[in-house]
Amino acid sequence: MLDSLSSPDVSTRLRAFLDDRAPATPCLVMDLDVVRANYRALRAALPEAAVFYAVKANPAPEVVAALVAEGSAFDVASTGEIDLCLAQGAAPESLSYGNPIKKPADIAHAFARGVRRFTFDSDGDLANLAEHAPGSRVSCRFLVDAPASGTPFGRKFGCAPQMALRLLARAADLGLDVDGACFHVGSQHTDPAAWTAGIAQAAWIARGLAECGVPTRSLNLGGGFPTAYRTPAPPLAAHAAAIRAAVAEHFDTAPELLIEPGRAVVATAGLIRSEVVLVSRKSDTDEHRWVYLDIGRYSGLAETENEYIAYRLRTAHPVESPDGPVIIAGPTCDGDDVLYQHTPYRLPTALRAGDHVDILDAGAYTASYSSVSFNGFPPLPTLFVG
Ligand SMILES: *Cc1c(COP(=O)(O)O)cnc(C)c1O
Repeated sequence: MLDSLSSPDVSTRLRAFLDDRAPATPCLVMDLDVVRANYRALRAALPEAAVFYAVKANPAPEVVAALVAEGSAFDVASTGEIDLCLAQGAAPESLSYGNPIKKPADIAHAFARGVRRFTFDSDGDLANLAEHAPGSRVSCRFLVDAPASGTPFGRKFGCAPQMALRLLARAADLGLDVDGACFHVGSQHTDPAAWTAGIAQAAWIARGLAECGVPTRSLNLGGGFPTAYRTPAPPLAAHAAAIRAAVAEHFDTAPELLIEPGRAVVATAGLIRSEVVLVSRKSDTDEHRWVYLDIGRYSGLAETENEYIAYRLRTAHPVESPDGPVIIAGPTCDGDDVLYQHTPYRLPTALRAGDHVDILDAGAYTASYSSVSFNGFPPLPTLFVG
C-alpha cells in the first residue's frame, strides 16, 4: 500500500494553516469544524440517542467548548475531567461519571459539583455511591459477550450480566435512582453485531429487574464507533441500523438511548505533523529502511502499541515517486518505541531527514496520552483551526 500520496484528503483549511504557520514539530492540529461535523453526523445517524462525548479521547478545552456549544453531554472519568467540562460551560446535569473505578472522595467531589449520573460495576463502588451520591441516577456496566475490538479493554470493566441484575436491584434498595444497564464493546469496533450482543444482554437484565419490581429507564451503549484508518470501517449508518434493529427485537418498550463516542467525534479532526530525524539501514544489504520520527509511543502515538491502530501517513513527495518498505520508530532511547515493524508501510525512497511525515486521523487518544516528558521529549502540543 502506497502511503506517500500528496495529501488529497487533508482539509484545505488544515493544509493552509500548516503552510502559513509552519508550526514546530511534532504537533497535533485539530480542525474544530470537523469535530462539530462529526458530532452532527452521530446525532443524525442515531437521533434517538443522547450523545455523551467521552472526554478522554481528546480533553482539549477547545474541543470540549465546541461540543458544549453543540449541545453535547459528556462522559467523564475523574475529578479533573469534571472540572475541565464545568470550566468550559458544561452543565453539571450533562455530565455522566462513567468510570467504575473511583475513590469515595472522587464521588463526593462530583456530587458536590452537581453531577448526578454515575456508573458502577461492583458492590464496593455501589456502596460508596449510596453514601456519597445519595439519590443519584446509576447504571451498571456489564461485560459484553462479543468479539474483541481493535483496541480491546479486556476484562477490566463490567461485571457478569447476572451480577449486574443483582447490583441494580440492590441500588434501588439503597435509594438510588436506577437508570439501567450499560456496556462498552471496546474501542475501534468494526463489527456492528457487537452492539447487537450487548443490547440482547441488556434487555435480559431489564426484564429481570422488571420482574423484581425495579423499572429501568435507559440503555447506555457506550462508545467504540470506529474510524477508518488504513483499513476501512463500516459507516455509522450500519451501526445505527444494527442498534435500532436489536433494540426493537429485544425490548418491548424502547429505553432512552445514550451513546458515549470518543474516537468517532475527534479522530478525523486531527493531523499530527512530524519530522524525520534519521533514515538508516541495519546492514548495507537491508531492504528495509528505518525511519525515525520526532514523535513516538511516548509523545502521542500510544495507540501504535501492538500496532493496533495503523494510521495513514502522508509526505510532501509526489504520489508517483518510487517507494520502498520501511520500519517506523520514535525518537526515544526505548526499545519498545517502534511504531510499525509488522504492519507493512512504504515511504518514498527520496525521504530524507528534515522531511515532514503527516499522520492522519490522529485527533483521538494521542495528545491525551502524551502527558509525561519521557526521556526529555515534551508532551505533544495541540493547535486549533476553526
Ligand atoms: C473510553 C470510553 C468511551 C469512548 O470510547 P470510544 O471507543 O473512543 O468511542 C466511552 N465510554 C467509556 C466509559 C469509556 O471509558
